[in-house]
Amino acid sequence: MFNIHDPYLFEDELAEDDRMIMEAAREYCQANLEPRALRGNQDEIFDPEIPKEMADMGLLGASIAEEYGGGGASQTAYGLIAREVERVDSGYRSFMSVQSSLVMVPIEKFGTEEQKQQYLPKLASAEMIGCFGLTEPDHGSDPSSMVTRAVPTDGGWVLNGAKTWITNSPIADVAIVWAKVKEEEKDVIRGFIVETSWKGVSTPHIKDKMSLRASETGELVFQDVFVPETHMFPEIRGLKGPFTCLNSARYGIAWGTVGAAEFCYERSRTYVGERKQFGHPLAANQLPQTKLANMLTDITTMQLLAWRLGQLRDAGKVDPAMISLAKRHNVGKALDIARIARDMHGGNGVTGDYRVIHHVMNLESVNTYEGTYDIHGLILGREITGIQAFVPKG
Ligand SMILES: Cc1cc2nc3c(=O)[nH]c(=O)nc-3n(C[C@H](O)[C@H](O)[C@H](O)COP(=O)(O)OP(=O)(O)OC[C@H]3O[C@@H](n4cnc5c(N)ncnc54)[C@H](O)[C@@H]3O)c2cc1C
Repeated sequence: MFNIHDPYLFEDELAEDDRMIMEAAREYCQANLEPRALRGNQDEIFDPEIPKEMADMGLLGASIAEEYGGGGASQTAYGLIAREVERVDSGYRSFMSVQSSLVMVPIEKFGTEEQKQQYLPKLASAEMIGCFGLTEPDHGSDPSSMVTRAVPTDGGWVLNGAKTWITNSPIADVAIVWAKVKEEEKDVIRGFIVETSWKGVSTPHIKDKMSLRASETGELVFQDVFVPETHMFPEIRGLKGPFTCLNSARYGIAWGTVGAAEFCYERSRTYVGERKQFGHPLAANQLPQTKLANMLTDITTMQLLAWRLGQLRDAGKVDPAMISLAKRHNVGKALDIARIARDMHGGNGVTGDYRVIHHVMNLESVNTYEGTYDIHGLILGREITGIQAFVPKG
């Protein structure tokens, strides 16, 4: 019997724990997030209750060790949660990904024992909200050219600079900040845990985004901010630090976009089944049928890529290029599917009620952040040819 939601039956292969987490996340997202998604998007509202609700459901830091307040779940479970949240809204998934992957992962992987004890349980319970500052106004795809800098002072560092496009920054209590320091005459990127209440830190909100409208986005500005020595990650140096976090978040995006694409496909299937033109349901025409067939084919490849990547991450066998391939492919296909779904809904497709244009607009940001579609193409191109093409020759 052909399954029109999971044609290659990947859900049959899930471990029992992962399946239970997926089902609980789906129930919460459909019952509690879905009813708030339309207004959240139209009115640019990130409901402040959502972090606590997600924490109570164990959706924050799902794969962080239990001793630090995390869920100790598999990578597959983390991905399945992202899929359920993004089925509703990429903005809510962005909140969850930043908290779990871009803030908790670096503290768990690179932090001292004191840093882990101080921050991870509060981040898991949403007592604290976190953000991740890598992108700068003049340095996005090329973070190695960042100009934010920390210079040594008595007992710590003085931080100056600005980060932009920072998810969660206007509501964050704590920021993971990547900045340059001088070590043996060379500039080296180091990571800091900065509390946003500290003197000299400001987090202005970026207004009038037309995408991820329910997600709070802002800047992080540092003016002579004193950062105690205890708040630097002790060992990690260079872009390996931020890229480790980004790999985790990009993996979550590969899963999340499966949810957004599945939503658009299901909505389109229902719509063409109900909507009649020329005396017949739209679904009786060849073009809508082949559009649905293409969507399901793409969704199936997305599901299988994400599912296999989760297995490989759990087995510790992932190369970052595998994550680039899945992030790039899955976001690109989700965006194609959302745009076609928008078209299949005719005029209704531009209204908020059907929520397909909501996914189109959201996925435009998801295609850009965490490495653009083209930058991941260049990462793959470098692997395939052995030649880096980020910097033009000549
Ligand atoms: C809603 C939203 C939330 C975000 N959240 C965060 C966050 O929480 N933390 C954070 O640090 N950042 C965040 N970002 C920033 C995001 O990661 C950057 O926008 C992204 O890395 C691209 O950088 P940029 O916008 O400066 O574009 P640019 O780097 O200026 O790129 C512009 C275009 O040029 C292309 N391009 C760039 N270099 C090359 C090249 N060598 N060859 C070919 N083409 C190239 C790109 O693919 C893109 O199409 C967020 C962005 C958005 C939109």
